[in-house]
Amino acid sequence: MISIQSKLPHTGISIFSVMSKLAEEHHAINLSQGFPDYDCDPKLLNFVTDAMQKGYNQYAPMPGLPALRELIAEKVSYLYGANYHPESEITITSGGTQAIFTALSSCISSGDEVIIFEPAYDCYAPAVKLLGGLVKPYELSPPNYEIDWEMVKKLFTANTKMIILNSPQNPTGCVLSEKDIKALIKLTKNTDVLILSDEVYEHIIFDDNKHQSIALYPELRERSFITASFGKLLHATGWKMGYCLAPELLMKEFKKVHQFNVFSVNTPMQVGITNYLKDKETYLGLSDFFQKKRDFFRSLLVETRFKLLPCNGSYFQCVSYANLNEEKDTDMAIRLIKEYGVASIPVSAFYTKSTDHRILRFCFAKKQETLEKAVERLMKL
Ligand code: GLN
Repeated sequence: MISIQSKLPHTGISIFSVMSKLAEEHHAINLSQGFPDYDCDPKLLNFVTDAMQKGYNQYAPMPGLPALRELIAEKVSYLYGANYHPESEITITSGGTQAIFTALSSCISSGDEVIIFEPAYDCYAPAVKLLGGLVKPYELSPPNYEIDWEMVKKLFTANTKMIILNSPQNPTGCVLSEKDIKALIKLTKNTDVLILSDEVYEHIIFDDNKHQSIALYPELRERSFITASFGKLLHATGWKMGYCLAPELLMKEFKKVHQFNVFSVNTPMQVGITNYLKDKETYLGLSDFFQKKRDFFRSLLVETRFKLLPCNGSYFQCVSYANLNEEKDTDMAIRLIKEYGVASIPVSAFYTKSTDHRILRFCFAKKQETLEKAVERLMKL
């Protein structure tokens, strides 16, 4: 018998896999894991299949297809006025999670401290721990999950290596304001602290909010990795396509890891995406598209006994059931699947200490009839 010492002894299977599997087993409507239940644009599919037919089926260059990197550089310059060099500052990745893992791997060493805001997307902390880093969680509270930057300052030590940001935020749907960014600039000034800004929901932001990309701020850009996702942008999460932006100094290290991890990313997808994204409307209309879904979903949910939390971005709506019962959110989520046929994500899964505010996350990147059917079931609660 061999034995191994787990490198992540306290980590289980991701909550997304757990809930999606349960949803399937119980034939529940799956509003847990974040993915659309409608297909992507047929035009995009044609571009990709066309690329395969035309023979774009061998390795792409290690950092990605030059034409796609150029297009991303143009997009970032157009949206945020930032100049990222396609050759040295942009890499195409196999999705946002790989970009995040690679960014962390390229700079986190044993003993480095990484500040994360919880509830936090579930891949950050395990990646930091695998690299020998120490997670410094800062717990935010519902309903607005605001950051008190004085508290962040208190978490700073001589070993602070990085702060991870995520706006629009998964799971809360909160967004960072200009005031937050100004506080961050002040806090990191004259330090070597790096930033990993997970901006996979950059194109899904509502009402009068403006996406506060790190790319907008030269003072932060120089110390930041920005990760992005084509899955969210194209309604194609299963393609696992994304990218990373970083100044040359950081991107050089990123590429060293990337080349021995995935080497390069799916060629025909890159060709297809390049042709598709030439039309800016493909991403400029996304916020409107999802705002309609958010508004529709919320208008249905107000008829249930849940209390709605604000949702300023992303395709997630959080609700509180604290007024209904004392059940743990994991138990409540399982009961909703088994007894009511609707799957959600318990938000305690995103806290190091499993802090439970009795909040559930629903994904509204779904067809209108799916949302209607789900809420019809939730009305019985
Ligand atoms: N980002 C998706 C979500 O938050 C899930 C991705 C995954 O399953 N790893 O639901």
